[in-house]
Amino acid sequence: MHAMKNPVTMKNKSDMSAKRWCRYLVSVCYMAIGINLVTLIVVWYFFVYIKYDVDSVRYWIRYIILPSSGMLAVNILADFLVRSDRFSLIFKEYVALLLILFFCAFLCFVHTIVAVLFATFVVPVLVSTIFADVKLTRRIFILGQLLLIISGLRMHFVSVRPFGAWLGIVIVTASGLLTVSYFLAKVLIVYGQDNISNLSDVYHDKISLEEQLKLDPLTGLYNRKAYNEYLPQMMEECRLAAIPLSIAVLDIDDFKQVNDIYGHAAGDRVLLRLTGILKRNIPERIYTFRIGGEEFVLLFKDYSVADAVKICEEMLSMIRSASLPEVNYKEITFSCGVVGMGENQVDPVALFKAADEALYSAKNSGKNKIIALDTPI
Ligand code: GH3
Ligand code: MG
Ligand code: MG
Repeated sequence: MHAMKNPVTMKNKSDMSAKRWCRYLVSVCYMAIGINLVTLIVVWYFFVYIKYDVDSVRYWIRYIILPSSGMLAVNILADFLVRSDRFSLIFKEYVALLLILFFCAFLCFVHTIVAVLFATFVVPVLVSTIFADVKLTRRIFILGQLLLIISGLRMHFVSVRPFGAWLGIVIVTASGLLTVSYFLAKVLIVYGQDNISNLSDVYHDKISLEEQLKLDPLTGLYNRKAYNEYLPQMMEECRLAAIPLSIAVLDIDDFKQVNDIYGHAAGDRVLLRLTGILKRNIPERIYTFRIGGEEFVLLFKDYSVADAVKICEEMLSMIRSASLPEVNYKEITFSCGVVGMGENQVDPVALFKAADEALYSAKNSGKNKIIALDTPI
């Protein structure tokens, strides 16, 4: 059992989980605040050096002290929210998104040139690379165009510098750039998604034949054979180490309809995409198995039932909000049953049966939900 590697985490060592992305982004923002600060001090020094008529007090307040302390305060808040265990992954992703937008808005307000650059190129590409979501990219694109119009109006009515006809040219060029970056971002997303399936092919070539027999060829997750072998081992391991073990059985809702309406190939692509979401976001010590067509088992080593439910809920909300062109962006959901292993439980079948029963009560009470048993089995 110690030799058991989790394909979910193994394969995605290079993929940062959503959580890590958010933290990474916050660190990058700290760095950006520092660079912005140093650059502006250098520019001020340069102005003084060439004896350019600059009002130093106004410059320091408007370009250095206010923006830096404002951005720092917001970044510290975002840092706290992203690191705290009290918030869901989705919430953290939205904090990260708002942080980017706030930074852009702030910088745009202070520097007109940065406004154009940020609104047209950095935001769409950055956001789509992080979230890999076409729908979100489209929203950001629209927001960027709005930002351009606002900064254009600000330049025209508020700025003391005479922009004249240049303003129109800048705005039109920026809008064009933004459109280009929107398409570029879409390409990046598709490239990323294809890359994940290529990675899975490369991975298959590298592992032993024995390991390959335990993997599901479509998704690269562990298959039923692996499940039958690993569940009893993991139960024993957790019992001996006196750590909790929780099990979740998960079944996609109305998947037959997906096949009936969009075809079997589209169904397969949806399965791939959904397992891709699981792979990217599932934390360590959680083992994922595809035990049937659209049925999965998650083994949570050293997770209480409450923690397992929390993670399943995050997965459900991620899958619900995934935008899937294969099904015409229709929402896909799953139902799930979760139970915890009792101290003296030695029967894997009993454990699965209890989780499966919880799954069926989720199915029978309207689907698209997670039902957990409070008492260990
Ligand atoms: P429920 O909400 O009750 O789970 O409804 P359901 O339609 O998902 O019902 P059920 O679990 O009985 O049906 C599963 C369907 O999943 C049957 C089959 O058409 C489809 N399916 C199973 N395996 C695969 C697969 O590998 N690829 C594709 N495309 N479809 C599959
Ligand atoms: Mg089923
Ligand atoms: Mg189903």
